[in-house]
Amino acid sequence: MLEKSQQLLQRASQSMPGGVNSPVRAFTSVGGTPPFIERAEGVYLYDADGNRYIDYVLTWGPAIIGHAHPEVVEACQAAMARGSSFGAPTELEIELAETMIARVPGLDVVRMVNSGTEACMSAIRLARGATGRDKFIKFAGCYHGHSDSFLIAAGSGALTLGTPNSPGVTEGTARDTLVAQFNDLASVETLLDGFPDQVAAIILEPICGNTGCIPPDPGFLQGLRALCDKHGTVLIIDEVMTGFRVGYGGAAARFGVTADLYTFGKVVGGGFPLAAYGGREDLMRHIAPDGPVYQAGTLSGNPIAVTAGLKTLQLLTPEVYEQLEATSERLGTGMQAIIDKHGYPMTQTRAGAMFGVFFTDKPVHTHQDVLGCDLERFNAFFHGMLKRGVYLAPSQFEAGFLSTHHTDAIIDETLEHAEAVLATIF
Ligand code: PLP
Repeated sequence: MLEKSQQLLQRASQSMPGGVNSPVRAFTSVGGTPPFIERAEGVYLYDADGNRYIDYVLTWGPAIIGHAHPEVVEACQAAMARGSSFGAPTELEIELAETMIARVPGLDVVRMVNSGTEACMSAIRLARGATGRDKFIKFAGCYHGHSDSFLIAAGSGALTLGTPNSPGVTEGTARDTLVAQFNDLASVETLLDGFPDQVAAIILEPICGNTGCIPPDPGFLQGLRALCDKHGTVLIIDEVMTGFRVGYGGAAARFGVTADLYTFGKVVGGGFPLAAYGGREDLMRHIAPDGPVYQAGTLSGNPIAVTAGLKTLQLLTPEVYEQLEATSERLGTGMQAIIDKHGYPMTQTRAGAMFGVFFTDKPVHTHQDVLGCDLERFNAFFHGMLKRGVYLAPSQFEAGFLSTHHTDAIIDETLEHAEAVLATIF
């Protein structure tokens, strides 16, 4: 069934670590062969062995309007014909910046970069440069890219592979990363009190999507806002995953909180390597060339990536988010009905077009709760779904994503598969 993919994996492993260019793609924790993808369209992925999958990974979030959207393809082809990179400013970049600024609360000024990692590490540098403080607080299980200072109690692939603290990160770097618990304001307060006037920033995923999908408890984000105000600490909301996914203005707008700085990626690049950071004007004016905090990039604001991002955002109207919310509710309610009907020890979560399915009967509020999940059952569920043509993230510690192409019929088909697979593993 995956014969050609197996051959490709063998060949790929000779020339690339694990045969992949990002670790979780290798199916290390779930085992088995990752399908090698040949093409994608709408809600479907097609692999080298001729299999078709309903895609809930969506290139790890970006493909919110489905794969190969004809309007994005057409706009990018036209952009490509005008030249693929200039290393000089373009009007398109202004349009994308203005489009983002119009949607996100407190986003005054934006700088475009190439990846979420770059956006997050640049935002931390800016917070340090502006406050003159060295330390920052992150949350266990949150992932902000693979820059050294974030690979402390990291989520996503680092957690999946059992290496939340990566070798190669120096002790000195690790010392400046303080780790709090998601949905636990007291753990943050303890750190801020313990390191007075030393904490430049608090960075977090507003919905922890790199340990599954853990929504914030009511008041958690507002509590962080208040603590940052009290301690003169910069609040960085990492919207790389949630931005323009869980609502028109992202998670901050959804939960009614305003950050000092934001980071973006995934959806904002429309499937191309484009990310951004931005926020309060007085902070952003510290960035070169307006100020002394240095950050640059040869391909930053690449015209094809900007075209794809802009077209994607233009297609994402408030009505589209209402549709995505309804789809997400249909999937969540349907999954809960299956869990209740059979009394399975499972929990499901959702927030906008993001969801989590956990093999634990306990509510999921922190990353510790997710660590207690039955990973063997998750792996069996994952492979059962894959065999039936449903492509889920190959790890219990990743969120699922929905697109505008996940129709009611696709959701119902997925639920039928889920019920059938779960019956074989409990
Ligand atoms: N921040 C969050 C919340 C993410 O989910 C990710 C990637 O999954 C990143 C940052 C890093 O982005 P990238 O993989 O584009 O470097």
